Amino acid sequence: MAEKTIFKRIIDGEIPADIVHQDEQCLAFRDISPQAPTHIVVIPRKEIPSLAHVGDDDAALMGHLVVTIRKLAEQLQLDQGYRVIVNCGLYGGQTVDHLHFHLLGGRALSWPPG
Ligand code: AMP
Repeated sequence: MAEKTIFKRIIDGEIPADIVHQDEQCLAFRDISPQAPTHIVVIPRKEIPSLAHVGDDDAALMGHLVVTIRKLAEQLQLDQGYRVIVNCGLYGGQTVDHLHFHLLGGRALSWPPG
């Protein structure tokens, strides 16, 4: 059996996280290495390794994640705007193999990314 990812261990309560939202489908917590004043990681409870593994039957779940991100951005008062990022696979810079959305805000972010 494959080893649990760090995010699955957070879902299972095996390691602590600074959780800002949780419901039956997802979890949101502060990134341990924040790249902006506000840096939240939003993950589905369902174990989907990456965006490349999202199935046709995951459409409602993906919608829920995006709506949750919008609500979090409001709650966290990211009134000047924010960025949502999904790193996918090796070239995408993904380091944790559990689908996650980064929500970054609280400062002006540059473009293009590295
Ligand atoms: P990515 O590089 O897109 O796979 O993003 C993984 C993110 O997870 C990075 O921004 C890490 O800082 C973050 N991270 C790793 N371990 C933890 C943890 N235990 N709690 C919160 N965030 C974490």
